[in-house]
Amino acid sequence: MDDIKEKTDFIRDIIKQDLQKEAGKKIHTRFPPEPNGYLHIGHAKSICLNFGLAEEFNGRCNLRFDDTNPTKEESEYVKSIKTDIKWLGFDWGNNEYYASDYFEKLYELAVLLIKKGKAFVCDLSAEEIRNYRGTLTKPGRESPYRNRTIEENLQLFKEMRDGKYPNEAKVLRAKIDMSSPNINMRDPVMYRILHKKHHRTGNKWCIYPTYDWAHGQSDSIEDITYSICTLEFEDHRPLYDWFIEQLGIPHPRQIEFARLNLTHTVMSKRMLLELVEKKYVNGWDDPRMPTISGMRRRGYSPEAIRNFCSQIGVSKADSTVDMAFLEHIIREDLNKKAPRVMGVLNPVKVIIDNYPQDKEEELEAINNPEDPCSGTRKIPFSKILYIEKEDFMENPPSKFFRLTLGREVRLRYAYFIKCVDVIKDKNGEISEIHCTYDPLTKGGDAPDGRKVKSTLHWVSAKHCIQTEARLYDKLFMKENPLKTEGSRDFKNNLNPQSLIIVNDCKLEPSLKTAKAGNIYQFERLGYFCVDCDSNDKKIIFNRTARLKDEWVKIKASIKK
Ligand code: ATP
Ligand code: MG
Repeated sequence: MDDIKEKTDFIRDIIKQDLQKEAGKKIHTRFPPEPNGYLHIGHAKSICLNFGLAEEFNGRCNLRFDDTNPTKEESEYVKSIKTDIKWLGFDWGNNEYYASDYFEKLYELAVLLIKKGKAFVCDLSAEEIRNYRGTLTKPGRESPYRNRTIEENLQLFKEMRDGKYPNEAKVLRAKIDMSSPNINMRDPVMYRILHKKHHRTGNKWCIYPTYDWAHGQSDSIEDITYSICTLEFEDHRPLYDWFIEQLGIPHPRQIEFARLNLTHTVMSKRMLLELVEKKYVNGWDDPRMPTISGMRRRGYSPEAIRNFCSQIGVSKADSTVDMAFLEHIIREDLNKKAPRVMGVLNPVKVIIDNYPQDKEEELEAINNPEDPCSGTRKIPFSKILYIEKEDFMENPPSKFFRLTLGREVRLRYAYFIKCVDVIKDKNGEISEIHCTYDPLTKGGDAPDGRKVKSTLHWVSAKHCIQTEARLYDKLFMKENPLKTEGSRDFKNNLNPQSLIIVNDCKLEPSLKTAKAGNIYQFERLGYFCVDCDSNDKKIIFNRTARLKDEWVKIKASIKK
């Protein structure tokens, strides 16, 4: 979709080889989220891969909700998942499926396995099953219920379905090999009893299939040709193959790839849910979250996320991508698109002593130097302005080139000003900086050719609008938040400074009409987008990214 260059990776190589062998073969992939949380950037990698392959090879990609566990799933998640995939720019057309739609079919297939003597009803408790399973070095022991007759198993399984037994009283297990070196093959559980309402099937079922039983068969039922999943399922592949071979149903090819890990965040839905439920963040779409909805609210574009997924590529080797790389991609995207404006986050008053009291001027400013078509706008100038507190120092070190007593600097798009005096309040804080301006430097250059060493951003006090800015930083302080000392929990690694709210941000008046989702570069400060919490009375800006790109530095240090 975005790429001029053809993508290559080991999965695309496999598919190309298959297509050479079998001309005209239709490729069919799927994205199978479990609706137990919001999608994150790791899911975006899988979405770009599965939907991307279908687009490139003229095939089809299903959206399948893997909704086999009624205890954790909610319709809210289904809705958010659909919104996020569409926003990323992908379309599943009519191919929206639910594993729960196959409950009847899966039940029939389970009955078929029982009839073949390949599955049995087991009365061991969950703990006993664990104890019987053995370890990597020790073979497991067979369940005492393993040799029930086919008739007895059929009868008991039907009774399980009919609700005759309480939760956990019995399970259905595959009958494979308790001494297999692969623990997944040691008579895995296929069905559990769970008297619980399901978000789609209601109270129709009180037995639910396990992921291992449902997943491969769902792929087969949908005629998936490439079942692409993350590496942790490599050890489950022999089991999926076994089921399909016993049942004699269509056989998708499973290919595993490395999941995306990112520094300074977590990607497990269980942990993300904990952050939401215990209010460490303000919901799934908090702009600090690695979720797609969080990134959208933060001001990331779908093109940038797709570009990120394309640049990190697909491989078999586990790795962790630096968050700075994602931010680098975001910045490149915003640099092209975001109009420039001036805003002051931490204001201090500047009074131009020799500027007439009531005079106002409109100065011309460039909207985006990266985009000549974006034109110019007018910004008002007057006697009293705001500049950034950090841009003035009374006793500056030698490398400080910004404003100080006696020094001349440029105000962007306006004039040269020179500081002549400062006034302090009773706490000793600077309350007013007095300057003079040179009318001949209008537009930003001196006719006599004299130079200044810095250019400051500013807004006119009389004209500016006051807003709230939310400054975001990394959610976790540690690169790997899961690395914790002793019994401490990953939440101990949360960054207490990950959100700083600034209430007194002053912005140029052109931003009065900014709408939720609009994104700007505040000159010298960073990229900011209008948050959906904004209303007619108050505009709130989220800092999407700082201007400084840390990735360039990190990349250089990696190369050394
Ligand atoms: P969790 O273990 O946190 O619940 P999950 O992997 O089980 O996450 P699913 O909803 O089952 O979440 O994932 C749907 C699809 O997205 C799966 O095919 C899975 O392989 C893929 N996926 C999930 N996380 C990542 C990741 N970090 N990188 C790449 N793909 C991922
Ligand atoms: Mg999963």
